[in-house]
Amino acid sequence: MSKSNVRQTENLSQQEREYENTIRPQSIEDFAGQPKLIDNLRIFIKAANLRGEPLDHILFHGPPGLGKTTLSRIVANELGASIKETSGPVIEKPGDLAGLLTSLEARDVLFIDEIHRLSNVVEEYLYAAMEDFKIDIMIDSGPAARSIQLTLNPFTLVGATTRSGLLTAPLLSRFGIKSRLEYYSAEVLQRIILRASGVLQVKSTSDAAMEIAKRSRGTPRIANGLLRRMRDFAQVLGNGVIDLAIVEHGLRALNVDESGLDDMDNKILATLIDKFKGGPTGINNIATAVSEEAGTIEEVYEPFLIQEGYIMRTPRGREATEKAYLHLGRKKEGLLF
Ligand code: ADP
Repeated sequence: MSKSNVRQTENLSQQEREYENTIRPQSIEDFAGQPKLIDNLRIFIKAANLRGEPLDHILFHGPPGLGKTTLSRIVANELGASIKETSGPVIEKPGDLAGLLTSLEARDVLFIDEIHRLSNVVEEYLYAAMEDFKIDIMIDSGPAARSIQLTLNPFTLVGATTRSGLLTAPLLSRFGIKSRLEYYSAEVLQRIILRASGVLQVKSTSDAAMEIAKRSRGTPRIANGLLRRMRDFAQVLGNGVIDLAIVEHGLRALNVDESGLDDMDNKILATLIDKFKGGPTGINNIATAVSEEAGTIEEVYEPFLIQEGYIMRTPRGREATEKAYLHLGRKKEGLLF
């Protein structure tokens, strides 16, 4: 993942993390959007609660900032259980994982963010834990070394990933519930912004919240980040209320793209148009030209560009649409504008 991608959790500052935690919804009622996923989750959680069993292991996949971490905490809350949080690259050896697993109480949630970055040995170790709630641990070393089997409390693993394509088949098959998070509509983001304003005790008008929503790339993390900056503009330049005039001024001052696209989105579109004559061209060509991994483009950037109609996926590769040309103010041969 490139350093330029400031939306990755690992690149958030301590302050930004604290801010996110303050406004993070705690209950399933406060989680906006993703209706299908939420309806299903409610049923699975209720059923697990009725039976007093742990919930099946869950995989949340989708682009960064759409609510995977938030949902994992909500799942634990709704189960009345505790959550332990870690991430793929942090678990270096099976022993680290064993330490986490043995500390879980019955029905607790273990959240592994960026689960596609688990090492092979750790991943294989996880299989038996997920399937039979058992792990082998080595005791002693040298000639006296032997392994003993420990039975774990039945727990729920919640894995999150932006790159589901990188998960191995054996790991994927061990998740009973696999849910993809989708980008949010402007209307839902507007609700998220108004709710966050309430938590922050700052007043936002509904047209101002809508304007922020439209420029947030379908992503709650970006919407909340912009809200935070707009609060500064409102306090210093206005009377503390986030209204449309403040938002229009603030977004202009921050150079936020009118359509909510970010630097990498614009770079991808410009590359496609300027270097590859608008395409069609293969994802690998685009990736090399913008110095990003092809998989990241495919799973993190491209879905939004396709959804919003800037790129088309054709059998011969990716093609820029008329909307992309218009957005960048480029001329497409044969088009009159
Ligand atoms: P991810 O784990 O997918 O990268 P997070 O769960 O950390 O994303 O969410 C990022 C931010 O967006 C958090 O501050 C969270 O409060 C907010 N957020 C995400 N989804 C929602 C939602 N559906 N409703 C309200 N706020 C949300």
